Amino acid sequence: MALEKSNIYRLPWSKNDNPIGWLEVTDICNLQCLGCYRRKISGHKTLDQIKEEVLFLKRWRKVDNISIAGGEPLMHPQIMDAIAFMAQNDVKPIMLTNAVKLDKPTLVELKKAGLAGFTIHIDSNQGRPQWRDKNEAETNELRQHFADMIHEIGGLYLVFNSTVYPSTEQYIPEMVRWAQRNVERVNGMVFICFRTAPLEEEVTYQVGDGLVDARNLSYASETPMERAITSYEVHDLIKANVPEFDAAGYLGGTWKIDSIKWLTGAMVGTKHRMYGSVGPKTMELAQTGHHLFTGRYLAYLSKARVGGKIFWLSPLDKTLRAAYKRYLGDIVRHPLRLFSPIYVQTVGIIQAPDIMADGTADMCDSCPDMTYWNGELVNSCRMDEYRLFGGFVTVVDHAAAEVAK
Ligand code: SF4
Repeated sequence: MALEKSNIYRLPWSKNDNPIGWLEVTDICNLQCLGCYRRKISGHKTLDQIKEEVLFLKRWRKVDNISIAGGEPLMHPQIMDAIAFMAQNDVKPIMLTNAVKLDKPTLVELKKAGLAGFTIHIDSNQGRPQWRDKNEAETNELRQHFADMIHEIGGLYLVFNSTVYPSTEQYIPEMVRWAQRNVERVNGMVFICFRTAPLEEEVTYQVGDGLVDARNLSYASETPMERAITSYEVHDLIKANVPEFDAAGYLGGTWKIDSIKWLTGAMVGTKHRMYGSVGPKTMELAQTGHHLFTGRYLAYLSKARVGGKIFWLSPLDKTLRAAYKRYLGDIVRHPLRLFSPIYVQTVGIIQAPDIMADGTADMCDSCPDMTYWNGELVNSCRMDEYRLFGGFVTVVDHAAAEVAK
């Protein structure tokens, strides 16, 4: 069935009530990923600055978790103290890392400090030594290395995210299949559709009426994108190759009525096979139930091993009911599988901002990755515009605007 917004659940998140808060502890990094939103300008934040941001996010956003981002957070000299402070303040610290500096002793220390889990960014356009000539499918070997190491320590949530480009999109199904084979180790996969801002003669960048030099933005590029991959396209590609996947929740765009900026689904299965997915009703129950009992919405399940009780919701959720029927059929054929633990594994798709012909940006509605900036919250993907030019940049493609008239 074609992806239709009206058939999936619009996540109830908003600016002041959002399970995710974004906190960059540093803008220093040890890799150079294509499409990165951050430049090195100010270096490491002090621990006092970090603590202030944690308390700000708690107070103004009701966060369930904080995405510790950068730059590369593992380069921050007081990262353990920052994590401990978050955990003591009852927010789940989730580290977004490229994992270059992640080894077993560091992992043990991070867990001891109170880290709840990781989102590890691995893709083939990061300039990683020894992985430069590998494609996304071959890069699964690196994902496997970290999945095994983190599983051995145990008790940590693990998602892999990957920026997808027209040249690497074809490998997405293989990455999803790899994650399925590792359902005991991997809680989810996230695919981020690559975007750049064009550096072309007919495109001007301005804050208010003043022109700014966009060459300072790390995501501005002189090489035009072959084409902009959309979340619909990534969804259809996964669905065609992994039919047990169904999307259940979304966030739209701030401008375009049909854009899907965040799309999420959760497959249900055992290490033997995936039986299907949860549907929008389960997604809704998870969000509203969690909010009812904790006062916060939910972005990350701390335990992927949910057990057979997930199927108790199947009378309310026809997508989950179909998965349950497949599960029962499988148990009849292989009775011993009754003793296999049941997991959920999420798949997320993010379509970064799109610039309209008149310069308007179609951002993620209720942006989950908002971050602290001078006493306010701003979209983290565009924070360098504030840091470099003091405000949100309007990008006007004069040629496209002429055509649109
Ligand atoms: S608008 Fe927010 S969620 Fe969307 S890409 Fe930017 S920071 Fe991320």
